[in-house]
Amino acid sequence: MSAGAFDLAGRFEPGVTPPPAEGAGWWFIFHRRCLLVRQDPAGWLPPQLRDARYLGLPLASRHYLGQLDGLPCWAAATGPAEPAAAEPPPAHAFVDLFGLHGRLPLDLYLLAGRAVQILEWDRDHRHCGRCGGATEAHPRERRRSCPRCGLQQYPRLAPAIMALVRREGRVLLARGPAFPAGLYSALAGFVEPGETLEAAVHREVHEEVGVRVANLRYFGSQPWPFPHSLMVAFLCDWAGGELMPDGVEIEQAGWFGADELPLVPGEMSIAGWLIRHALTT
Ligand SMILES: [Zn+2]
Repeated sequence: MSAGAFDLAGRFEPGVTPPPAEGAGWWFIFHRRCLLVRQDPAGWLPPQLRDARYLGLPLASRHYLGQLDGLPCWAAATGPAEPAAAEPPPAHAFVDLFGLHGRLPLDLYLLAGRAVQILEWDRDHRHCGRCGGATEAHPRERRRSCPRCGLQQYPRLAPAIMALVRREGRVLLARGPAFPAGLYSALAGFVEPGETLEAAVHREVHEEVGVRVANLRYFGSQPWPFPHSLMVAFLCDWAGGELMPDGVEIEQAGWFGADELPLVPGEMSIAGWLIRHALTT
């Protein structure tokens, strides 16, 4: 595996309009941010069915996502009123998507992330943000339009950069106050309107730990559905300044070599790939 493992190109064909003859497919059914999974000998998997109605769950909305290896994929949300608790069918459970990271096969996890973002976008854009009118879904495109004022709304992505800074064989790892105990990672932050990815790397690194960087190299990207980010990762070199964590986003930061690594993210996240790559090349 490599950072390119987050790319389903060649296996997944996205679509909005379902094919006329639907066979059994993957169903990504969410109650809030919890995905319905069934216990399988191979572990947790989303149900594979011809139609989610066989599960007997009340569903508020469903969206065709496309085909994975020729199998149709669907997103659906419980409803109609999103009760506080949803009763899963026998041998199934609703599990928080974040907690499934590393526990679902990567291809299905990526599609679950796609599914929840489309469901939440669709739920949150039923009314026009400009004039308040009811919006309508387009039958062939992923967009909702306002018939009254013409505003078009598409699923949103919030790009974020990740930066791993190298200095004399060591890498800069840091932790924020909300990180799990002992975990360190590369620096990351959202791109601001009007900013390039490269400018965001320079700004975030300087804001968060006070150092300057140079020689930015694109490493890879990972969809990050918390709630709708695209993480774009860069390697770069230290170019000046000493570590001064800002105390808000970053509470601790340090330079680490391959033999002194703290707890870092695993192989299901681009941060894990980036850190291992930087210390082995
Ligand atoms: Zn409108």
